[in-house]
Amino acid sequence: MHFNLDLIHKNDFSLWRYEMMLSISKSSIITLGEGMTPLIPLAFHQKQVWVKQEQLFPTGSYKDRGATVLISDAASNGVRHEIQDSSGNAGCSIAAYAAKAEISCDIYVPVQTSEAKLAQISHYGANLIKVNGSREATAEAALEASKHHYYASHVYNPLFLEGTKTFAYEIAEQLNWKAPDVVVVPAGNGTLLLGAYIGFKHLFESGITNKIPRLVGIQAANCAPLIQLQQNINTFMQTSTIAEGIAIAKPHRAQEMLDAISNSNGLLLTVNEQEIIDALKWCINQGYYIEPTSAATIAGVRKALNYLEEDTWVTLFSGHGLKTSDTITKLLKTV
Ligand SMILES: *Cc1c(COP(=O)(O)O)cnc(C)c1O
Repeated sequence: MHFNLDLIHKNDFSLWRYEMMLSISKSSIITLGEGMTPLIPLAFHQKQVWVKQEQLFPTGSYKDRGATVLISDAASNGVRHEIQDSSGNAGCSIAAYAAKAEISCDIYVPVQTSEAKLAQISHYGANLIKVNGSREATAEAALEASKHHYYASHVYNPLFLEGTKTFAYEIAEQLNWKAPDVVVVPAGNGTLLLGAYIGFKHLFESGITNKIPRLVGIQAANCAPLIQLQQNINTFMQTSTIAEGIAIAKPHRAQEMLDAISNSNGLLLTVNEQEIIDALKWCINQGYYIEPTSAATIAGVRKALNYLEEDTWVTLFSGHGLKTSDTITKLLKTV
């Protein structure tokens, strides 16, 4: 369906204002009032960049975009139990919306996930299943269990991207139905990157905007499988990174992510640990309390500004710092 401005619910100030543009079953809408996050200008040296405040979602990250849409669809189809795996934030989102929908859920997480995220998931009432091993081992355990249960995966289930595409709709609307020139996003599993691409492409193909922005995907240098795929490197080393939310060694949609970046004439960049810490300090010193993973994207913006000369830039704060205060304290050594 074409994106149609007349079909927007103008009095709904959540992402559900775009309900008519979401391809899902929606007899029950499970909402916590998410979306329409502020888009505010921030000065990066000489350049103004619009930063979407995606840390201000009900559970503290933009993953709520996907969760509200996916769980609404599941609830409309009578799902009563579901499973999901996550390195933290996606689990928080699915657990919160499942609680609202009164759907029971099992969330598989790697044992080393931040305590605050684990606490949040279990306080929502989800069954927490800690997997000894990597993020990949966790995904395998969930995939196995999904043979018998509804799999509310932010990675495999395409309904999640139906939700994250609203990121693009909101940006376009907040810029008076203009597409920005450049959009800088994290590139872990690509749920935001792909949603943004789908959304901006939809607006462009519907004649609402005049282009698809150049998408810049950011990976941590310590875990950069897309770069390895792009450059055909087979043997590689991966070490840990403070950007736990994008520490995805084998992204399921890797090729789709590379295609979205190249179709939009975008870029793939990596940032090292020191650059992430510097960006984190820089944001928090200005009053923006974000998690270390979010700082990786901001470090990426600083780098991308050296490569691209376009005028209108958009990026985001992907997750709230309050969940990771312990880590932030260690990194900034201010306390
Ligand atoms: C999930 C997440 C990311 C990375 O998103 P992907 O969809 O895996 O690319 C970045 N920042 C935060 C805070 C997240 O929760």
